[in-house]
Amino acid sequence: MKKIGIIGNGVSAVTAIREIRRADQDVNIDVFSDEGYGYYPRPKLIELIANRESLTEIVRYDHNWYEKNNSTLRLSEPVVGINPSSRSIMSKAATHFDYDRILITTGCHPFVPPIHGVEKAGVHVLRTLDDALAIKEHVSSSSRQIIIGGGILGIELASAIKAVGGSPLVISNIAQLLPAQLDQGASSALLSRLENMGLNVLLGFTCVQVTGPDMSTGVVSTTGDKIRGDCVIMATGVKPNTKMAQESGIAVGRGITVDDQMLTSERGIYAAGDCVEWKGFIWGIIPVALDTAKIAAKNLIDHGSATYTGTTPSNTLQVAGIDLTSIGNFNPKSPDYQSVVRTDESDGTYFKAVLKDKVVVGGIALGDRKVAMKLRRLVNSSEIVENTDEIFDA
Ligand SMILES: Cc1cc2nc3c(=O)[nH]c(=O)nc-3n(C[C@H](O)[C@H](O)[C@H](O)COP(=O)(O)OP(=O)(O)OC[C@H]3O[C@@H](n4cnc5c(N)ncnc54)[C@H](O)[C@@H]3O)c2cc1C
Repeated sequence: MKKIGIIGNGVSAVTAIREIRRADQDVNIDVFSDEGYGYYPRPKLIELIANRESLTEIVRYDHNWYEKNNSTLRLSEPVVGINPSSRSIMSKAATHFDYDRILITTGCHPFVPPIHGVEKAGVHVLRTLDDALAIKEHVSSSSRQIIIGGGILGIELASAIKAVGGSPLVISNIAQLLPAQLDQGASSALLSRLENMGLNVLLGFTCVQVTGPDMSTGVVSTTGDKIRGDCVIMATGVKPNTKMAQESGIAVGRGITVDDQMLTSERGIYAAGDCVEWKGFIWGIIPVALDTAKIAAKNLIDHGSATYTGTTPSNTLQVAGIDLTSIGNFNPKSPDYQSVVRTDESDGTYFKAVLKDKVVVGGIALGDRKVAMKLRRLVNSSEIVENTDEIFDA
């Protein structure tokens, strides 16, 4: 094998490069990125907005790292298509030929709901370093920041904006925070903690319009309620980047369809990370990106050498002063599961373990990192728990 092409330069791409290097010291790797920076971890964008890390600190790998790994980093060179039969890659700049294998790691883009006026100046999304720099600059000159979306990203953003002296308000169209990670009890406990930290949250507000002639001046709800805000940030979810693959004749569903080897519908072309759909699942979290990138890289070098069997979803919220982890099946709807909950309003903790046949299969830990670590260990080890009273004794 002589040459591998990787499309995208996020955590999936750099994980794959490391794994390929472990197996093969000689193969050349071309990395195509539509962004203008070397690799940076996306969670660090929050640190940039909060002024806790600088631009130079968050960009982890410069050209030297790629050179050391026998790789050529092609920045600001978006790929517009792949020719699966000749295994060539068409970028905006040129066509590159003769790849033995191609790995697609194009990630996700923010999903923006069809709200009237979202195209106005002063309305942002957060996915890339350029998005973060634009938000950071606008926050410093704006008086009120409205964050639409009560998920992890929305809350982390609000905390970062507050840390630099802003006045953020999180609004969500449903009556619960973090619906993908928490049950109602944990959401209420989190809400109290956020309010105690001085973060403002408004639940049950469905935004239908961004007001203002050219610049945003605020938002309006379905019931006509108005909130003033000259900076609006949409944190309303993500969708896999599949367009380039689809236009190249590669099968896509909600994401780029892959099998257990991370092979797409085309021989020699693999995909990994946020852009993939595996057995009907799409994710958008780093643990899956790491696992799928390693499997794809092994199979790129030696097809059939590694099989993906899934990743237990795990989320950790990094809002100053709050340790919140949710893992696995934390809110089952079937009577086959047993839930054990311990809450303490005085210190704002909320712990939940979900068991099936005496084995912990998921849970939530709000307010104690040690309990979170214990839950994660129990879920990963599948150990039999005889005494549920001891689950939260970390
Ligand atoms: C602010 C923020 C905080 C986050 N925090 C967490 C967290 O705490 N925990 C967690 O698990 N996850 C978190 N995530 C999600 C996590 O960052 C993603 O799961 C991860 O980045 C996925 O990696 P990836 O390499 O698959 O895709 P990406 O990191 O999205 O990288 C894909 C790259 O490909 C580029 N690209 C796309 N199309 C093309 C093309 N045609 N040609 C060339 N390049 C292209 C994209 O621009 C991008 O640079 C966070 C995300 C954000 C934005």
